[in-house]
Amino acid sequence: MAGAPEWRFDPLTGRRVLISPDRADRPRRIGPICPFCEGHESETPPEVLAYRDHGSAPNGPGWRVRVVPNRYAAVRLDAGAPWTPPAPAIGPVPTPGLGVAEVILESPDHETHFCEVPHSLVIEVVTAWRERLRHWRTDGRLAFAQVFKNEGAGAGASVEHCHSQLIGIFFVPPAVAAEIERVGRGPCAYCRWLGTTRDGPCAVVESDLFIAVCPPAPRFPGETWVLPLAHASSFEDIEDPELNDLAVVLQDLLVRIRRAFSDPDYNLIIRSAPFRHDETWHWRIELLPRTTTPAGWEWGTGELINTMFPDQAAALLRAAG
Ligand SMILES: [Zn+2]
Ligand SMILES: [Zn+2]
Repeated sequence: MAGAPEWRFDPLTGRRVLISPDRADRPRRIGPICPFCEGHESETPPEVLAYRDHGSAPNGPGWRVRVVPNRYAAVRLDAGAPWTPPAPAIGPVPTPGLGVAEVILESPDHETHFCEVPHSLVIEVVTAWRERLRHWRTDGRLAFAQVFKNEGAGAGASVEHCHSQLIGIFFVPPAVAAEIERVGRGPCAYCRWLGTTRDGPCAVVESDLFIAVCPPAPRFPGETWVLPLAHASSFEDIEDPELNDLAVVLQDLLVRIRRAFSDPDYNLIIRSAPFRHDETWHWRIELLPRTTTPAGWEWGTGELINTMFPDQAAALLRAAG
C-alpha cells in the first residue's frame, strides 16, 4: 500500500485533486489472463452482491453478475479520521480520501462490449447498480455516489472484461451542486426540456418509459442521454417493472453508437441526485463516445470543442437502428 488517498487543494488555482497512490498499482489486463472471468474469484476481494445460479457458493463460480470492492480503490473508508458531512472538502489542509469504490462484473464470460452482453444479464447489471446505490444511500455515511463505466482503453478502462464501477464520497461534487443550484426548486426544468425535445431533431429513440436524446451542448460527437419520461430524481428509485425497459433502450443505444461512430470507446455515467436531496433533479444516464480527445486548448481553458452538432449526431443514431 503506497499511502492513503488524500484530496489536495491548490489555493492559487482553486483546483482540487484526489491523490490516490494505490491506483498506480492496478494491473493493466488487456488480454487472455483476466481477473474478472468466472473461475478467477480469488483474484478479487470477497463479493458484496452477486446474482448466482441456485446452489452455487459465494466467491466461487456460478455467478452471472458480481459486485466486489475495488482492490485498487481511489477512495477508502479507512483513509483517515472520519469527518461529519458537510465538512469542508476544500481547503489548504489535506483531507483524507474517504469513500467507497466497488466494481460490478457484468458477465461471467469474457465479454468486452456491453452491447453484446446477453439481455438478461444487462437487466441484472442495471439491478445491481440500483441495489448498490440503495445500499449506500441507506448506509447514511456518504453524501454522493456515482455509477460509471469505462469501456475501452481510450475511455480509461484498465481491464477489458465488461465491468462498471461505483465511487461514493462524503461531499457533493461542486459540478453536481452547481447544476442543482442552476435548475433550482419548483417545476422540473428537465421535464420541461423533454417536452420540447421529444419530437425534435435531437431525439434518438423512445420506449414506453425512457427516451434517448442528444443534449444541447454535447461534449463529444454522439454524446447521448437516456432519461426517464416520468419525473424521477434518483436512479436508485427505479422500480422492478422499469428495469427491462431501461435495459432495452440502453443496449439499443449502445448498438447504434457502435454502428454510427465506428465502435468507439465510451464512458457511461449515471447522474443521479445526491443522497440527501430535496430539490429538483431528473436523473439521466450519459453516454460519452470518445470520438475526440480533449487536448491543449481544453486542458488550458476548460472549454471543450466538439465537431458535430447534436441534431447531426441524433440523425446518425436514428439511422443506425
Ligand atoms: Zn474476463
Ligand atoms: Zn423532471
